[in-house]
Amino acid sequence: MTSLLLIDLDETLVDRDAVLQDWAWETARAEGRLELADWLIAYDRAEGRVRDRASFLAGVAATFGWQQPVEQLLAEWPAMFGARYQLDEMVAAALRRARQAGFRIAVVSNGDVGRQRAKIEAMRLSELVDGCVVSGEIGVRKPDPRIFEIAAERAGTNLDGQVWVIGDDPVADIGGGHGINARTIWVNRSHKHWPSGHLEPQAHFDDPVRAIEHVIDDASP
Ligand SMILES: [Mg+2]
Repeated sequence: MTSLLLIDLDETLVDRDAVLQDWAWETARAEGRLELADWLIAYDRAEGRVRDRASFLAGVAATFGWQQPVEQLLAEWPAMFGARYQLDEMVAAALRRARQAGFRIAVVSNGDVGRQRAKIEAMRLSELVDGCVVSGEIGVRKPDPRIFEIAAERAGTNLDGQVWVIGDDPVADIGGGHGINARTIWVNRSHKHWPSGHLEPQAHFDDPVRAIEHVIDDASP
């Protein structure tokens, strides 16, 4: 029976907030407005969630006096931001070990297709995993079980064997994992408390390498 690892992208495989902070500092420096770096980082979120990119880029353009229309900035955003994503060599090595241990691996990401595909390409994920699925290309988002089914298919298998879901989002990843009877591992990079009222993960770690190692050990007879 196949062992399948379904893994999230942002804030799980990659520290998205760190990439955003690098972009913010470089942008503020390039504009000669270093004092705005902290504002850029804070403006990335609204009420604790990543702000809609059209609204974010409109606000940034207004603040820096950029003349391009928001549509153009949105079209440029994957090259501005997603192309900066790099997979840490330790994480890549952990993924390779999981595959050597017999796992099929699929990346399951909620988001815009162009933005997420730019990240997947920059991270060279196609060399390390068996499939990737982005919600924006199929019209179904985590925690809907169908996105996990499609991810399994793209990895050349199904959800009938042993399945693990690794992710940072309590609802999309951990709730979604429970919804397909997978074992769930929470990646909690910023040491948050588990939000009450949500089904808990089987395990939690503050970095993806330990999460992947845990899955490999968990599957061993
Ligand atoms: Mg995530």
